[in-house]
Amino acid sequence: MKLLFVVCMVSMLLVVGMVGAAFPQEEGVWRITAYCGCSKCCGKWSDGHFASGRKVYVGGVACNWLPFGTKVIIDGLGTYTVEDRGAKSYFGSKSNHIKHLDVYFDSHEDAKQFGNQYRSVEIVK
Ligand SMILES: [Zn+2]
Repeated sequence: MKLLFVVCMVSMLLVVGMVGAAFPQEEGVWRITAYCGCSKCCGKWSDGHFASGRKVYVGGVACNWLPFGTKVIIDGLGTYTVEDRGAKSYFGSKSNHIKHLDVYFDSHEDAKQFGNQYRSVEIVK
């Protein structure tokens, strides 16, 4: 009887784990990287504008599957607005929600120094 109980508990945990994997939470810990508007960071896209069409400004971030204008709160950094898009392999797409934000900086050095961080992100609805 006790063994059956343990087996039940284990299979329940497995099911919960599988459901969790099938419906990943959009919020939680994200990978945060940084870039600036220079040609090293943006290549041919370095025209001083985000993909949204707005002029670049500090406070804009790139995310491929949140609509332009969506506000996200990055833990320890502040509130940012989705203005840009990035490579699908890094940032996913509408059908592949990769938790990765690219934060815009005015200076290439600052962006480089920021590096690669992991922080919790809250999407403001
Ligand atoms: Zn740069």
